[in-house]
Amino acid sequence: MWWQAVRMLGLVALLALIVGAIGGKVAALAMLFAGLLAMLAYQLLNLQRLVEWMHAPAGMPLPAGVGIWAHVYYDLDRRSRTSLDLRERLTDALDRFHEASQAMPDGVLYLSANDRIEWLNRKAEQHFGIDGRRDHGVLVTTLVREPEFVRFLQAGDFTDPLVLHSTRRAGLTLLLQVVPFGDEQKMVVSRDVSQLEKLETMRRDFIANVSHELRTPLTVVTGFLETLIDGRDDFAPEDVTNFLQLALDQSLRMQTLIEDLLTLSALETGAPAAVEERVDVAALVHSIADDTRLLSNGRHEIDADIDARAGCATLLGSEKELRSAFANLASNAVRYTPSGGRIRLSWSCTEGRGEFAVEDNGIGIAAEDIPRLTERFYRVDRGRSRETGGTGLGLAIVKHILSRHQAELRIASEPGKGSRFSARFPASRLGPATPALHS
Ligand code: ADP
Repeated sequence: MWWQAVRMLGLVALLALIVGAIGGKVAALAMLFAGLLAMLAYQLLNLQRLVEWMHAPAGMPLPAGVGIWAHVYYDLDRRSRTSLDLRERLTDALDRFHEASQAMPDGVLYLSANDRIEWLNRKAEQHFGIDGRRDHGVLVTTLVREPEFVRFLQAGDFTDPLVLHSTRRAGLTLLLQVVPFGDEQKMVVSRDVSQLEKLETMRRDFIANVSHELRTPLTVVTGFLETLIDGRDDFAPEDVTNFLQLALDQSLRMQTLIEDLLTLSALETGAPAAVEERVDVAALVHSIADDTRLLSNGRHEIDADIDARAGCATLLGSEKELRSAFANLASNAVRYTPSGGRIRLSWSCTEGRGEFAVEDNGIGIAAEDIPRLTERFYRVDRGRSRETGGTGLGLAIVKHILSRHQAELRIASEPGKGSRFSARFPASRLGPATPALHS
C-alpha cells in the first residue's frame, strides 16, 4: 500500500523534473502542484464514493477503484459479504426456530424478566387469547388474569406445573410448565389437557354411577335377608317366598347390570370384532320381532316390515352383536310405550344404504335429552327405567356396536308422540342373499 503511494509520488516528481528541464523552475513547481492536486482530488473522489456506498442499502456492490482504493474496496467487500452471510445464517436460524416453535403442539410463551410478553407461538395465542403483535411488551398478568396464574408467577416456584382452568373459554383446561432461563426470563409451555380432564371426570362419574346402581339392589337384598334371619319363625311360608322372590329380582337386576358392564367394557377396550358373516336381515328382524312380542306380552301391536330388494338381503357383520343392538332398540320401544301402543320394526334400503329402524308411539323424548341418550347411565326418567329393568347402558352398547359396523345411530322423537331409532349401514356392508341362506 505504502509502496503504491511512493510510486505515485515518484511519478509526479519525475514529471515535474522533466517539465522543469524543458520549461524551467516555475513550470516544474506548477507540474508538482498540479500532480499533488490531482492525487488529492482522486483520493477525495474515492472517499466520496465510499461514503455514498456506506449510505446505500445493504448488499449494494462496491465501486471499482485503482491503486490503494482497490485494496480498500476489496477488503470492505470481503468483510461486508462475510457479515451479510452471517446475518443471513442468523436470520435463517431464527426463522427455523420460529417455524419449529409454531409447529409445536404445545403453546410457547416467552416472558421478559418483569413478566412482559416477548414472543409466543400460535398455540399459545389460542390458549391465552393473546395477540403476539398487538400485545408485545404487555404485562402478561393483565391479559391472563386467572388468580391462580397470577399467584403462580408471583410465587416463583416452578417445580410443579400449574393446572389452569380458563375463565376465558369454558371447558378449557391448561397444564402450564414455567422454565426460567437467561437473565430471569421465562418460557411458559402450555398444553391443552381439557380432553384428559373430561375423561378423568367421566371415569369418576362412571365409578360413582356403578357403585350407586349396585348399592340400591344390594341394600334391598341385604334388608330382606336380615329381616328373614331376625324373624325366621314369625313369617308365614308365603311371606318368606315373597321376600325371597323380591331378593331374587334384585339379584337378577345386579346380574343384568354386570353383564351390560362387561359387554360395554369389552366393546370399549377394543376387544377384537367378533367374526363377521353375511347376516340374513329378514330372518334376524323377524326373530327380534318374535322376541319383542314375547316381551310385550300382548300389550302392544308389533309388526315387522322388510324391504325385500335383492341387493340388500344380507348385512356383513357379527350376528351376535347386531342382534344385541337391534333387540335393545326394540325392547326400549316396548318399555317406553304404554299398553295399547304400536311398535314397528323395519329394514329398508335407500340411496345405497341399509337402515334398520324401530318406531313407536310411546312417551317420546324431549329434544334436549336426545344428544345425551348414548351416555352411560343417562336416563330421562330414572324411575321408569329401573321399573322396567333398565340399566341405562343399553344405548351406549348400541352405539358402540354400530360404530364397529361403521353404522350411524339416528334418533328422532317428540314427547307424547313417539320415537324413531334407526341404524344406518354403509353400502359396503350390504349384499345379496347368499345361496346358503336359502338352502
Ligand atoms: P335404559 O336401560 O334406561 O333404558 P338405555 O340406554 O337403553 O337405558 O336408554 C337411555 C334412556 O333413553 C332411557 O332411560 C329412556 O329415558 C330413553 N329411551 C330409550 N329408548 C326410548 C324410547 N323408545 N322411547 C322413549 N325414551 C327412550
